[in-house]
Amino acid sequence: MEGQKLAHGALSEEELLPMVMEVFGREITSHELGEITSNLALKLRPYSLDIKKAMYDNGKTYYGLINTVGKGSDDLTKLSNTYKPWEIVLFRKAIEQIVESEDGELDSRDFLNLREGNTIVEVRALLQRLYDEKWFAPSIFNDDQATLGPRVFLELVVFLRELGIHQCTICSSDVLQGVRCPTPSCITRTHESCLAKYERKGRKYNCSACRKSLR
Ligand SMILES: [Zn+2]
Ligand SMILES: [Zn+2]
Repeated sequence: MEGQKLAHGALSEEELLPMVMEVFGREITSHELGEITSNLALKLRPYSLDIKKAMYDNGKTYYGLINTVGKGSDDLTKLSNTYKPWEIVLFRKAIEQIVESEDGELDSRDFLNLREGNTIVEVRALLQRLYDEKWFAPSIFNDDQATLGPRVFLELVVFLRELGIHQCTICSSDVLQGVRCPTPSCITRTHESCLAKYERKGRKYNCSACRKSLR
């Protein structure tokens, strides 16, 4: 079961911590977990494996075991071992639409409409698999919509940056479904969790570009 989860490439810190504590037989802090995984990553690199860590839109840290072999290690071509060419084409189109959309989300009907020559049954099965393998996740704003899953932030960063994903101005990690600056033309975005942490100190966060208060 746990192995299955890891095979699906993305575990949140809260899922991973209890497993690591069981191995070490003691309490582990999240800082220590970071050190343990970077040490492990160093040992895995000669075997074309790496452990990546990324902040996800929901404010949680995710870890992923990444295969670094081959040219397309940060590109959708790496999916070609496990996905059919038409599935990769459709997934790519969906990622592009999600990143370009206003709220970073895509309706399942719109996903079905992206298909060319495939049946609805096939495309529904693909959608389900993308959710199961954490390439997709329910939108933070609306459960019925799909957004990018944590695995995309771990494994397809180069592709996401090519598409112009923004970075949180507080923590510098990539952010899709975050809080936006109220100035319409301003690109500033932060994670909800980063902004909340800032505000808990009793301060207002002003946009670094246009100086407006984010809320
Ligand atoms: Zn952030
Ligand atoms: Zn601004």
